[in-house]
Amino acid sequence: MGISKLATCPSCGKPVYFQGANNVAGCGCEKVWYRSGDELKEVKMELVRGSSDIIQPGTSGSWKAIAFIVTGRLRVLFEDQAYNYWTLDCNDGFTRHLAEGYGMYTICEALPFKDATIARKFKADAQGLTLPDDREFSVTARNESRLIEVEGNVFVQGLPDRFNSIEAVTDAERVELVAYSETVAVAFACYEVEPELLFLSNVREAEPEAKLFTCRNCHAENHILTYPYSHSWVCAKCETRHSYTGGQLATHGGQHTHDHEFCFDIGERISLEGGDYQVVGLAYKYDTDSRTDYWHEYTLYSRLHGFMFLTESDGHWTSLKETRHTPRPGDSRLHRIAFDNQQFRRYSKYHYRMLYALGEFPGDVFSRHEDIESMDYIAPPEILSVEKDHKKRLTWFRGKYVPRGVIAAQTHNLLPQTVGIAPAQPPRVNVSTETIVKSGGIALLLAMLVQILTGSMHSNRVIFDSNYNFSDSLNTQLFISEKFELEKQSSNLELDFKAPLENTWLELGVTLVNAVNGSEYSAEQGIEFYSGYEDGERWTEGDREETIHFTKIPAGTYFLQMTASRDSNMYTRAGIFTTKLVYDATTYRNIWIVVILILLGPLVMGIMRYYTENARWGNSEFANSSK
Ligand SMILES: [Zn+2]
Ligand SMILES: [Zn+2]
Repeated sequence: MGISKLATCPSCGKPVYFQGANNVAGCGCEKVWYRSGDELKEVKMELVRGSSDIIQPGTSGSWKAIAFIVTGRLRVLFEDQAYNYWTLDCNDGFTRHLAEGYGMYTICEALPFKDATIARKFKADAQGLTLPDDREFSVTARNESRLIEVEGNVFVQGLPDRFNSIEAVTDAERVELVAYSETVAVAFACYEVEPELLFLSNVREAEPEAKLFTCRNCHAENHILTYPYSHSWVCAKCETRHSYTGGQLATHGGQHTHDHEFCFDIGERISLEGGDYQVVGLAYKYDTDSRTDYWHEYTLYSRLHGFMFLTESDGHWTSLKETRHTPRPGDSRLHRIAFDNQQFRRYSKYHYRMLYALGEFPGDVFSRHEDIESMDYIAPPEILSVEKDHKKRLTWFRGKYVPRGVIAAQTHNLLPQTVGIAPAQPPRVNVSTETIVKSGGIALLLAMLVQILTGSMHSNRVIFDSNYNFSDSLNTQLFISEKFELEKQSSNLELDFKAPLENTWLELGVTLVNAVNGSEYSAEQGIEFYSGYEDGERWTEGDREETIHFTKIPAGTYFLQMTASRDSNMYTRAGIFTTKLVYDATTYRNIWIVVILILLGPLVMGIMRYYTENARWGNSEFANSSK
């Protein structure tokens, strides 16, 4: 980490501050400076104006237990999208970047390769990419900067005159290569992270400040809330479609239909998947391949979560969000994609026409949108959707079937009637037909076996079901139960115990004591539960509950001694646990009722499943492909 420096603007004489090793900073006089030693050189960048992004210089947060403070950003405007590269001053002494845009957040760590070696990767236009350590990647995107803007002060590898980017992936890793000049480029290892897990504080409170565009047709003023992320909008007055790409404003004609009905209006709010969104765009689309499918699409925006797309077709609702956590580029040729421990099966391949649109849309959606090839893959209730544009660029979206009730609860408008089964609609029975038949058979056999083997009745008596609280000062504590009677000559006891653990453990030592003759039965069992996020995926380990078994306990008067031990960490340790003691496990009272009930379930499930899947795949040309 270098030394902070307060320099003097060579142009206007005002102070310009460079924090730590940061070497690019703007001055109020609109000039942007690059420092090298004591010398300041002017760079071709502009200052970010009227920002409404949630992150700002001074925002703090943490990532994998590393605390950081945001010092500033480069906002890079590519041809039809904008991306932020925030400089993070981290408390482990390193400078990292947070790449952010459209609700996708990525921590970028510079890899230790020579600038010139990485810069050469920008000369070729290959689909493959080999890093100097021989790791091989597939290129997913190439973008060239049109305009770079700066806010606060940032770190750049060398005097920047451009910001060109190559993104590339393997099955498990992602890298972004950034060229700052002809000879200086850096490869970054990229780690996707959910915004909630950055624990951001001191965020920008200001409400979004819309950018003003004047309609080229009717000269009405249009306020575009999500510029520079949105590059497409429709004039609210004359409904002419506009795009603003490569710094050029262009029109794309009018609508193909008129006065279309939507369930939500622009400006209304919708809560989905833990995010609060505002409706910014409405579209009515038509599948030009099947010529039978129409759908409504709502473009939603949140300052923290970026864009989400909510579609409605035949009364079925599906949410979709762009993602950088994607299958390999070549997978989009397959009928089945194994991804994230799931099998996604291709459901449809289509092109669309935008019959009607209002509001604003991320990227450039109007020019050549009819050339976009879309493919949907399903693993109900999940859906993966990939769009290939006329430059063969792939954009992946991931989403879910949204139950109608979730939408109905958020509007007074009448929702369209639900017709048929949607592609990603979860089956009411989420198991395969084969499993249903097998489980029915096995359950039947087991039921008969249990009846033959036991032949007797069990009482299944709950002796107690109680909560126990630790004293604040103790991490090991003894709890003693009331006395209880066991009446059978010999039977079993089950002690279920559980605690609301979060990244901690609890251990229970249990002694069953005969209150009359002092004979003892002891057992020990621990529970532990840990969770976290790695590579953008949530993992959990362990269990919050366990069962201790005591078998062949003779009749008598007993009590239970429980010695509970917990972690000493004040912040995570367990405060409470629950135990339930059950005497004499049960069996079925009437084997025939049980048999009928067991068989009824699979039969009904099987019939339901058959009709659901037939209806689901009835609209797909891929129904019989590689099944
Ligand atoms: Zn100045
Ligand atoms: Zn207009």
